[in-house]
Amino acid sequence: MGKEFIKECQEKVFSGMQISADDAGKLFDVPDDDLAYLAQCANEITRDFNGNKVDIEQLNNIKKNACSEDCIFCGQSAFFDTGIETYKLPSPEEVVAKARTAKEQGAESYCLVAAWREPSARDFEKVCNIINKINENVGISVECSLGFLTKEQAARLKELGVKRYNHNLETSKSKFSEICTTHTYEDRLRTLEIARNAGLELCTGGIIGLGETRKQRLELTLELARICPEEVTINILVPVPGTPLELQAELPYSEIIRIFSVIRFLLPESVIKISGGRETNLDDSGEGLLQSGANGIITAGYLTMGGNDARKDQEMIRRIGLET
Ligand code: SAM
Ligand code: SF4
Repeated sequence: MGKEFIKECQEKVFSGMQISADDAGKLFDVPDDDLAYLAQCANEITRDFNGNKVDIEQLNNIKKNACSEDCIFCGQSAFFDTGIETYKLPSPEEVVAKARTAKEQGAESYCLVAAWREPSARDFEKVCNIINKINENVGISVECSLGFLTKEQAARLKELGVKRYNHNLETSKSKFSEICTTHTYEDRLRTLEIARNAGLELCTGGIIGLGETRKQRLELTLELARICPEEVTINILVPVPGTPLELQAELPYSEIIRIFSVIRFLLPESVIKISGGRETNLDDSGEGLLQSGANGIITAGYLTMGGNDARKDQEMIRRIGLET
């Protein structure tokens, strides 16, 4: 098994067939010598289905929090002493100003993220007011990541014109209880179902480099293929001092290439975004991954840490012949 098998799988994708779980497992395991070819074929699929445009998103961490959940990677969990500054929801005016800057800097979407398990009724109203104000004053596609949602809340977000809802599975089902005990994998799947039933597009994915095996990365990948979200978001762990994963070893680059490439074979039409950890884990800020299946980035910083500035990312995208 080698290049011929990779080509056969690519041909299946081009002819509109879904590759099997077995094929995906074999692609994950191609020898290192064939990795560049796997990445090249994934890139060809991306270009064919999605063209050259890179989806650029900016985030606003509207609620930095001491969150009630114990996700072991998260600097905003109240379970760990990470020294992260917390703050309350900002005023709509502050968020509108930032959304406007994001638009001026070339972002197509603006995602409001909150570090809590789920929004309280009061906070949810405040977020709705913020979304209204962005709609009235900026005209950028608004996305949200607000934790667990009720059906009513999901319907309200849809009414407000929210395009896409982010809720990550984080890891494979078989690994999940090791990374979080305050909620379950099924809880996360349920929110995705609620969001989809309300007519919201889905953005979901996880974090790689939590100590999971390659088999578990395959398991996550197959679950994502089953859900078939409009957008997949893959974070590469940023070990946060004070969390149980602060000393976690970096995932080898070859493993990162494998997962991005195989997700592209399984989900040819989705946006596949390189999310948190792009600048910290990748020497090239994602140039290689944008030519190995990925076609989206988050720019200008993350939830609790800075990132590349938007201009630098745009220059990088143009340098490799892609479009902003
Ligand atoms: N609280 C909501 C939730 O859990 O769905 C939304 C916000 S949560 C902070 C946003 C995402 O950031 C998480 O789902 C996780 O994938 C990612 N993330 C958190 N800590 C991270 C870390 N140390 N490294 C990489 N990604 C991380
Ligand atoms: Fe809370 Fe979300 Fe962080 Fe988990 S990932 S601790 S739910 S903010």
